[in-house]
Amino acid sequence: MKKGLKVTFLGTGTSHGIPMIGSKNPVCFSNDLKDNRLRSSVLLSWEEHNYVIDCGPDFRQQMLRHKVENLDGILFTHEHSDHTAGLDDIRPYFFKQGDIPIYANQEVINSLRKRFDYIFADENRYPGAPAVKVNLINSDSVLELSGKKISVVEAWHNRLRVFGFMVDGFTYLTDIKHVEEVQIEKIKNSKILVVNALRLDPHHSHFNLEEALNFVDLVKPEKAYFTHISHLLGFHEAVEKELPENVHLAFDGLTIKV
Ligand SMILES: [Zn+2]
Ligand SMILES: [Zn+2]
Repeated sequence: MKKGLKVTFLGTGTSHGIPMIGSKNPVCFSNDLKDNRLRSSVLLSWEEHNYVIDCGPDFRQQMLRHKVENLDGILFTHEHSDHTAGLDDIRPYFFKQGDIPIYANQEVINSLRKRFDYIFADENRYPGAPAVKVNLINSDSVLELSGKKISVVEAWHNRLRVFGFMVDGFTYLTDIKHVEEVQIEKIKNSKILVVNALRLDPHHSHFNLEEALNFVDLVKPEKAYFTHISHLLGFHEAVEKELPENVHLAFDGLTIKV
């Protein structure tokens, strides 16, 4: 069993994925598989353990694609649907393992309770409904999960609080627009930084490409990967060519050994 952390990009697309339904944009018709992007999520694996960051609408397909047979837990960045809508599909893991641990801040838990009330119900539970074990986290939390330390990083998605996660020098932040100095200090000189780069034009709650590159300059990781990408960023191959040497666009299926 391998002790080292392996990261698999399960999805690298923005909320509508690429291709986007009904889009006439050429990126949505690309023959390059790297231009096909499911909703953003990563799998963190070590030894026999598997954790996912976020559980969006493509969760089922992502678990099948990567043959993930057991799931130790789900870490949530924030409550938006493209990061949470797949929660019902934990059922096969629930049947096998029992209540699935989730790690999230209070806002996320409140939102999940509303949208998936049957998953959180204490009585009159529908037979077959999955259940979760809630682990509340805050911006200073350092989790001890299956022998690894995972630190929470706080950031802002316009006015919405978003959590990122740092483990073994690997930092994952998505759907961010602003990060306070003290949080940047936490992640400075990460070995690997993953951050969102939505498109070329500015957006009210996401980094565009320029902001993402500036953020990489601040954090100074050895290597950076961009995720949560819209078709409006352009073709994978064309954008990749323009990036600095230590910065890459992530793509679905990319794996990294940390
Ligand atoms: Zn998102
Ligand atoms: Zn979001």
